[in-house]
Amino acid sequence: MRFCKKCVMPDTRPEIVFSEEGICDACLSAERKVSGIDWNARKKEFEAILSRYRSKDGSWDCVIPVSGGKDSCFQAITMKNDYGMNPLCVNFVPCEMTEVGHHNLEFLRDQGFDLIQVGANRKAYREMSKVGFHKLGDCCWPEHIGIFTAPVKIAVQFNIPLLIWGENSQLEYGGPATARDSQTLDRRWLEEYQMLGYRIEDLVHDGLEMKDLKVFTYPSDQDLKRVGVTGLFLGHFHNWDGRANYEKMKSLGWHPNPDGPCEGTYTDYENLDCKWVGGLHDYLKFLKYGYGRATDNACIDIRKGRISRDEGFRLAKGYEGKLPRKYLQDYLNFIQCSESAFMATLDRFTNPYIFKRDAEGKFIRDAAGDLIKLDYGLA
Ligand SMILES: [Zn+2]
Repeated sequence: MRFCKKCVMPDTRPEIVFSEEGICDACLSAERKVSGIDWNARKKEFEAILSRYRSKDGSWDCVIPVSGGKDSCFQAITMKNDYGMNPLCVNFVPCEMTEVGHHNLEFLRDQGFDLIQVGANRKAYREMSKVGFHKLGDCCWPEHIGIFTAPVKIAVQFNIPLLIWGENSQLEYGGPATARDSQTLDRRWLEEYQMLGYRIEDLVHDGLEMKDLKVFTYPSDQDLKRVGVTGLFLGHFHNWDGRANYEKMKSLGWHPNPDGPCEGTYTDYENLDCKWVGGLHDYLKFLKYGYGRATDNACIDIRKGRISRDEGFRLAKGYEGKLPRKYLQDYLNFIQCSESAFMATLDRFTNPYIFKRDAEGKFIRDAAGDLIKLDYGLA
């Protein structure tokens, strides 16, 4: 594995681009965020856009998709308090919500926000999860579609043209330049970055019926045009800092993970709402590409100058790559799968060039049952 010379991101990350000097595009974009972007100008640009949408009578004038996480709470509160908007928050209910996830949605309502929760037909959800896990190696595949589809449907339903998304993940984590410079999120973005090349229509071959997938089908172009739906990334107009968002939300009473650091990383404030979006989803990424959430967190902390690159490598090695057990049984129950079939699927998605294997090519596990990565970037 080759690692970015500034952060700890490996070249196995999909679509990552390294400069000739060996620096990843996310690091270069972080530098641009400091020196190359006039944030005051962007704020003015944002104000000008919002003035066209702001309601005069206090009726809802923007939809904010919320998980209840630090970032979406920050989005809602910023739009209301700093920009005088009247948000309608929309939550797509994850497979199985955690207790702290519930508390944080209550926190949001206690801050004075209206909330619509969209819960998908759970029978179809379960089948989609099976497809996502066994065919695509993504245990949260339906969730990723739901969180980007349900709020758009609600926007159409209530005739609210403006949607405010959070960070542009391509800007924060790296990706193709066209997406990085984008300030909007649409169907194309969803299909390209979230659906892994598998479309809702494809699920018919898995025995699902379109009539059970209504929540997951994107509104028609005709409806989007009629309402004039526009999705903007707050992160395009506001210098996004996940940790600063966390500090601000915590000071208002938002709840971090009650157990301390989340499975697979050293922070206690990300992906808390769903039982498996934190642990298992990130673990699958680790098996496919050899890096997990601790690497993501470390890269951001390095770019912000909060930790050194060596410390980043040590944190990644220490925290990620362990089979997340906290909700494993709940997950097996949800997708009706035995542990051995589950492990066989994990092995199918594990990159054979990144992990230690025996003479027969089988993965070797350590005493704790975890795989052994060949290169941790450490000297
Ligand atoms: Zn980098």
